[in-house]
Amino acid sequence: MAAHEQFADDLALLALGSLQGDERATLEKHLQDCAGCRLELDQLRGDMALMALSTAGPRPPARSRQRLMDAIAHEPQHAEKSRTAVTRPSWWRAATLFVTAAGALVILLLVRQDTILIHQAQSLAQQVIGLQSDSLAQQAELVDARAILSTLTSPDAQRVTLVAAKTPPRPQGKAIYLRNRSSLIFLASNLPPLPAEKIYELWLIPESGPPVAAGLFKPDAHGSATVVNPPLPAGVGAKTFVVTLEPESGSHEAPRGSAVISGQGE
Ligand SMILES: [Zn+2]
Repeated sequence: MAAHEQFADDLALLALGSLQGDERATLEKHLQDCAGCRLELDQLRGDMALMALSTAGPRPPARSRQRLMDAIAHEPQHAEKSRTAVTRPSWWRAATLFVTAAGALVILLLVRQDTILIHQAQSLAQQVIGLQSDSLAQQAELVDARAILSTLTSPDAQRVTLVAAKTPPRPQGKAIYLRNRSSLIFLASNLPPLPAEKIYELWLIPESGPPVAAGLFKPDAHGSATVVNPPLPAGVGAKTFVVTLEPESGSHEAPRGSAVISGQGE
């Protein structure tokens, strides 16, 4: 049996950012040596983002949903065997997965909106989550926040990207990076279909030092793709983000392929 099969659940939890402690350390150690599990982790992160985007879109990606559901349903095998301190029941893990996924969906739905809305939407989301007081003023804010959130997340809402007149759709990406949390969310659209045996790779180009690999991804049939919270070293300042076309296994030390899109921080 391939050793990495036992990590299926933990990979899903890690993708959602909710794996902690010994289990996280064990999995991260395994990831250093296992390209298969690294790829699975990248795919899970992409799947999560696709699920979030599809909530408001016309085409639910059944494959992504099924994979996550499988990960949730899969009974943890190594937890009973090797953990003595904290043994979490499977329902707890499933609940954690759902709760965290729900939070991730809300954030992702907000992030996919245009830049103008992002700051407003994030603060509104915090209001919705954080409001526990019964004060009238806060209730009024909550009503406003819910009204805006319901528009942003409505499946019936039209979503239109406006570009300069008479320009064909061009490849485009948007990276939202929070340095002090090493948190990165990347959304791309209109990417050309991948040639055979190639893959797109996102790079963070620091202010100094070598490029940092920030995730492999394949666009869907419409050229859309996402990278959500790839593993990144702590606190690296980003000067530029670049997407390159790489051999299918990806590059690790530096880009080998040509740049497809790039952008500098504001
Ligand atoms: Zn593995």
